[in-house]
Amino acid sequence: MHDHRRLGRELELFGTDPLVGTGLPYWLPAGAAVRHALEEYLRELERRAGYQHVCSPVLGKRELYEISGHWSHYRDGMYPPMELGGEQVVLRPSLCPHHALVYRSRGRSYRELPLRLAELGGQYRAELSGVLGGLTRVRAMQLNDAHIFCTPDQVAGEARAALQVIRQAYAALGIEPVRYRLSLPGASSKYVGSPQMWERAAGLLAEVLTGAGLPYQAGRGEAAFYGPKIDVQVADCSEREATLSTVQVDFYQPEQFGLHYTGADRARHRPVMVHRSIIGSMERAVAHLIERHGGAFPDWLAPEQLVVLPVTSALIPPAASLARQAVELGLRARVSGPESGTLGSRIRSARLVPYQAIIGDREAAAGQVALRLRDGRRLPALPAAAALAGIAAHITARRTELWDAAA
Ligand SMILES: [Zn+2]
Repeated sequence: MHDHRRLGRELELFGTDPLVGTGLPYWLPAGAAVRHALEEYLRELERRAGYQHVCSPVLGKRELYEISGHWSHYRDGMYPPMELGGEQVVLRPSLCPHHALVYRSRGRSYRELPLRLAELGGQYRAELSGVLGGLTRVRAMQLNDAHIFCTPDQVAGEARAALQVIRQAYAALGIEPVRYRLSLPGASSKYVGSPQMWERAAGLLAEVLTGAGLPYQAGRGEAAFYGPKIDVQVADCSEREATLSTVQVDFYQPEQFGLHYTGADRARHRPVMVHRSIIGSMERAVAHLIERHGGAFPDWLAPEQLVVLPVTSALIPPAASLARQAVELGLRARVSGPESGTLGSRIRSARLVPYQAIIGDREAAAGQVALRLRDGRRLPALPAAAALAGIAAHITARRTELWDAAA
């Protein structure tokens, strides 16, 4: 595997500046293209899985995090509060409290449950040792997050479904977990609630893993302060393990926020919160994708999907026209002309671009293109419109292998 920090620099995906600060990377156009493709995919995947998206602010009053328990159990990871008009506001360490308030914004009936609220939102961690130049130890991150508010009977089904969505996403992204971990509380005093609550929640998650036929290991001391979780672990380029995806069961925050719903019996009941993230933060997810694919992303994620290579300068106009049509179809495409070097050197410098369209005199005269795939395969010359439509359709399908018109 490759080091995402080195490739991030070489491929101009992201950067850092001491003036912005340690652990605060910025995304360059190529990196932002990958990230946006990933974000669009996640939103679509979530919509299809019955989630509704919300937006909420990246900070809140200190009281909010006192109620959620973060202030007393997770303060070390939080930024110091800012004084503002006689109040204290804090950058949020997680999205859960905001989503609990969205749930509480009006009365809820059992008929609305499970209510799945998703958001790609900012959250902040006061890392003291942010590694400058990387995406894995950061102080600001964009989290792919969701909270499912449901009845106790629905918890196992929702956790199971969340795990399925995670596995579906891994298949589309071409990544694989190294193991599943059931993260349980440790000896420290940071864990809230009763032992019965923890046992019940951990039992449900263990059942979901076993039911899905997934072997797992217990991780003592790895749980969140409010509940146990399933962690989907991946390995980085130095074989260090990191958590990418999580599914957590939480009986605690619904109680803290006084959440309830009206049951079929017209009485008030307490919902359970299932916290889940398909792919974790955009920072860690993209770092892992860079290392896993060595920069040769699946075509739908690639910063550049098509590069058009006119053999001679005279062929720049038809090449530019092809690139424009590709952009119209939603592809990320550009022309690399003879001013950038010989055809061979241009092909080499576009070696990570999934599709290369070569236009010589014969192709231009016939309105065709000769496609070359990133792995070196060459396709027979195709009508330009058919080649673009084929690539666009394949990209929409989000597969990990490249489109091959001959297959
Ligand atoms: Zn949460």
